[in-house]
Amino acid sequence: MSRIAIVSAMTEELGRLHEHLDPGALCERHGGRDFWVGRMDGRDVVIVLSRIGKVAAATTATLLASHFDVSALVFTGAAGGIGPHVQVGDVVVATGLLQHDMDASPIFPRFEVPLYGADRFAADIALSSAVAAAVADALAPDAPHATDGLRPALAALAAARAAAGLPPHQPRLHQGLVLSGDCFVSSRAQCDQLLAWHPEALAVEMEGAALAQVCADFGLPFAVVRTISDRADDQAHVDFPRFIAETASRYTLAIVSGWLKGPGGR
Ligand code: SAH
Repeated sequence: MSRIAIVSAMTEELGRLHEHLDPGALCERHGGRDFWVGRMDGRDVVIVLSRIGKVAAATTATLLASHFDVSALVFTGAAGGIGPHVQVGDVVVATGLLQHDMDASPIFPRFEVPLYGADRFAADIALSSAVAAAVADALAPDAPHATDGLRPALAALAAARAAAGLPPHQPRLHQGLVLSGDCFVSSRAQCDQLLAWHPEALAVEMEGAALAQVCADFGLPFAVVRTISDRADDQAHVDFPRFIAETASRYTLAIVSGWLKGPGGR
């Protein structure tokens, strides 16, 4: 069976996605998590809330691989934008993921995952391209059906920017390196340090690279898609909760549904 897992860290990110499953969906509980198994937009899916951080993501990915016979995993959630052009409301689809808090030096090079011989895990190219195409569709100014759920979120973002005296910004899709670590990055100094280490990094979050490592262990393709909730700077503790409350779940639904309905989700 070709079943796809959809994972988020927080309830606000996942929203009530499971309510969009066809009638007859089942909820199974493993490891303290509810796994919603059913069909959505013509696909077999399992939807689960991982909770926050690398260990929670790894536990969830392991359960998906070992109990649910999934053929691919898609993580959807929020992240701090650290690339210079990555703004709140933009979406980053990871091409690779790295644990920025991994440091077994001097035994292993800094950031290298010990005994894996690499510091980053590549996302699946075909899956990520299909997700990125759905994101591009959802964000297009003249977007079709998929954007209907996103329109209020985009309007709220535009209003927040205007209120803060910022120029209008059309949310964009970016693809590249995403950093993960067990800390909420919320200062300019932390961002500058991360960029000094990894100048090509676009965003920072707390789960993606852990899920990626488990997927590598199980030989499972995965994609990580992150909507930018904050700039991981001194304002992040204000921007993040506001974005999470008002906007995150709308992005999840628009992206996941657009992707499942599109040719890449078949
Ligand atoms: N106390 C907060 C914790 C949120 S942690 C709360 O519960 O409201 C932030 C979550 O969003 C994580 O799942 C992480 O993956 C993502 N995230 C968003 N912005 C981030 C940032 N600036 N740094 C790290 N993770 C971030």
